[in-house]
Amino acid sequence: MVEFKTVRGMRDFLPEEAKIMRYIEDKARRVAELYGYKEIITPVLEPYELLAAKAGEEIRLRMYTFKDLGERMVAMRPEFTPSVARLVATTLRNEPKPFRLFCVGSLYRYDEPQQGRYREFWQSNFELMGSDKPEADAEIILLTNSLMTLVGLRNHTFKIGHVGVLRGVMSGEELDEKVQNGAMQLMDKKQYDDAFRLIEEAGSSSKCIATLRKLVKLRGGNLGIIEKMKQLVKNYEEALKATENLQQILKLVKASECKIEMTVEAGFARGLEYYTGIIFEVNVPEMDKALAGGGRYDRLIALFGGEPTPAVGVAHGIDRIMLAFQLQKTALKTKDERKTMIIPISEELNGEALKISQMLRDADISVEVEVTGRKVSKALEDANRKKMDYAIIVGEKELKEGSVVVRNLVKREQKIVKIKKIAETIKGQSG
Ligand code: AMP
Repeated sequence: MVEFKTVRGMRDFLPEEAKIMRYIEDKARRVAELYGYKEIITPVLEPYELLAAKAGEEIRLRMYTFKDLGERMVAMRPEFTPSVARLVATTLRNEPKPFRLFCVGSLYRYDEPQQGRYREFWQSNFELMGSDKPEADAEIILLTNSLMTLVGLRNHTFKIGHVGVLRGVMSGEELDEKVQNGAMQLMDKKQYDDAFRLIEEAGSSSKCIATLRKLVKLRGGNLGIIEKMKQLVKNYEEALKATENLQQILKLVKASECKIEMTVEAGFARGLEYYTGIIFEVNVPEMDKALAGGGRYDRLIALFGGEPTPAVGVAHGIDRIMLAFQLQKTALKTKDERKTMIIPISEELNGEALKISQMLRDADISVEVEVTGRKVSKALEDANRKKMDYAIIVGEKELKEGSVVVRNLVKREQKIVKIKKIAETIKGQSG
C-alpha cells in the first residue's frame, strides 16, 4: 500500500503547533487593532502577471505557476503586497487616504526546504499607503516591534538600511535599472565582489566602486553611523537625500521612547525589486534567518495602474516567529480555560448528557461529550490523561433529583450538584 506523505516543503501542524501559530496570528490581529489597520482577505491564486510584475527574479522563478482549465496563467501568491496594491489601484482607488491594511494567510514559494524555510508558510502583513513621510516608516517599525513584544520574544533586533543609498550612488553613474537590480540581488546574498564586478562591467567609474565598497562595510548601532554615510555619499545627491531620510526615520523611532535594538547597515539590500526607501529585517540571536522583513515601495501602485501612491509595509513570518518562540522557550499566555468532560452512564442518558452539555456551552464552558459508549471508569481515565478539570457523570439516580455528579479531577473529589448549579460550581462561584 502507498503511504501518503505531505508534498515536499509542506507541513502538517499538530494541535500544539497549531495553537502557537494561531496565538501569534491573534497577536498580529491585536496589533492591527491597536494601530488602526483594517483586515482584508485576498485570494491565494492571482494572475501570474500581477505577481510577476515587480517581485524580482529571485521570487519570480520560485512561484507555483500553472494554466487553469480556462487557459489563464495563474500563480499561488508568494507574497501579499501585489494583491494589496491591486486593490488599492482598483476597487479602493477613490477611498480617502491614507489606508492602513492588514492581512494574514499562507504563501507559496518553491524554496529549498530547511529549518525556517518552507514552500508553504504564513505571514501577517501590514501596509500603510498614501504617505511618503518618515512617520509612516517609523510606524511600521514600531508596530513590528509591538508584535514581537506581544508574542513574548526577547532580544530581537532590527537591521535597517535604505535602498536609496546604494541605488543613489549607482544612478549617479547612470547605471540602468536592470544592472542596479542585479547588483542589489547579489548584495542581498552578500556576494559583494560579484555585485561590484557587474557594476564595473556595466561601465561605472572606479570612484563609484570605491564608494560602494566603503559603504557596504559601514554598520553600527548608533546614529553616528549615519553621519559617516552622509560623508561618504556627499557627492551623490540622491544617495545623500536617502541617507537623510533614513536619519529622520530613526530619529522618530528614538523619539517614541520604545526600546528598540537597531543596527544600521549601509550595504543592506533585500531581494524584492520594488523597494524604493527604507528596508529592514528583524532577527533573534537563536536563528540565522529573519523573522520579518519590510520597507518602502513608492512606485508599485502606479505600476499597477493606480494613482501614484507612496507606501510602506512589512511582512512578519509567522512560522519563523513560532520557531523563535520555541527556541526561546516562551510561555503561551492564554486564558486559563477549565476543561470538562460529560459522561452518561448508559445509552439512554445520551440525550440528557447532550442537553446538559449545550446548557454549559451556552454558559461559555468548554465541554467534551463522551461519545464512544465506554464505561465511566475508562472515560475518567481518558479525562485524566487529557488533564481535564471536571467530569460530570450523568446517572439515573441523581437525575431523578434533577442532579448530576460533578467530579473535580484535580482535587479528586466529587459531589452531587443540581443541574442548574453546574455552571456556577465549575466557574468556582460556589462549592
Ligand atoms: P519576504 O516576503 O521575502 O520579505 O519575507 C518576509 C518574511 O517572511 C521573512 O522575514 C520570513 O520570516 C518569512 N518567509 C519568507 N520566505 C519564507 C519561507 N520560504 N519559509 C518561511 N518563512 C518565510
